[in-house]
Amino acid sequence: MNNEKEKILIVGSGSAGLTAAIYASRAGFSPLVLAGIQPGGQLTITTDVENYPGYENVIQGPWLMDQMQKQAENVGARIEYDLLTNINIESWPFKVNTDSGREIITDTIIIATGAQARWLGIESEQKYNGKGVSACATCDGFFFKNKNVAVIGGGNTAVEEALYLSNLCNKVTLIHRRDALRAEKILQSRLHDKPNIEILWDTKVDEVLGDGIGVNALKLISTKNNSVSEIEIDGVFIAIGHDPATSVFKGKINLDNDNYVITNKGETSTSVPGIFAAGDCVDKIYRQAVTAAGMGCMAALDAEKWLAEKQ
Ligand code: NDP
Repeated sequence: MNNEKEKILIVGSGSAGLTAAIYASRAGFSPLVLAGIQPGGQLTITTDVENYPGYENVIQGPWLMDQMQKQAENVGARIEYDLLTNINIESWPFKVNTDSGREIITDTIIIATGAQARWLGIESEQKYNGKGVSACATCDGFFFKNKNVAVIGGGNTAVEEALYLSNLCNKVTLIHRRDALRAEKILQSRLHDKPNIEILWDTKVDEVLGDGIGVNALKLISTKNNSVSEIEIDGVFIAIGHDPATSVFKGKINLDNDNYVITNKGETSTSVPGIFAAGDCVDKIYRQAVTAAGMGCMAALDAEKWLAEKQ
């Protein structure tokens, strides 16, 4: 088993991890990045990106992440296609193990493992992913301007997405499997005030229908009496929750009830000194590439400062 000693180990290679890598590299640390199970993160499974600042025209998510990775490597980051499998924080420096059987010793860790949107798990949903099926209204809502869309779910995310879309789209149908929303009451009252939002209660999606190029309808089933119906829509936003990729840290650093990493207010430090966290594994509210990148920058600066004070 090789023992390698790092100053800064970055876990995850989405926009948080790679931005942390760029900043840590430019501070002279040549950080090691473990790229994780989905190198490049969530942007690699999207298509058009129109809200990442600095690009005049629409760019592609995979291209943006490829550029970010090359930029990180050009300034000195080492990116390896390996996965963190265990972390030992009993003593410092920390010891971590990876899927390829390596043991790495490191002074600091930046956790940027991201989160994954939950999907309904029906075949047609994947078929039309990026062609009318989305898990992010802020990212993709604009493509459905003045059109009819549906949002699936009954939590804060679903209601916030429905409200956001109601300002852009002609009509929004919120489809929920029960007869009560779990979203906060203030969001619910805003929802009820919107004339172009309709709620379909006790309903679930059985199939996403389309012409092979885009979505044009949903086949729905009543959860009360199994009756089947159809609704014509141009796009559907799945908002049934996210799963932060934090299972390896459970019981070791403080996570909240939804398994997001808890960071100290206004910074990226966690419950363990020397371990920092950034991006969607921390943030359940904004979840944007640009906010994750911003937090990645903060994590690298926080780690550098911590190392300087430790010397
Ligand atoms: P939640 O887990 O709170 O809600 C998920 C919703 O999706 C529930 O209504 C659930 O239904 C429904 N659902 C789950 N699985 C399925 C399925 N297979 N088919 C149909 N419907 C399904 O997730 P959110 O993303 O809304 O929120 C996660 C956390 O983030 C929460 O703690 C929330 O408060 C927080 N948050 C806070 C925000 C803010 O403060 N501004 C904004 C966004 C999120 P059911 O109700 O029947 O279980």
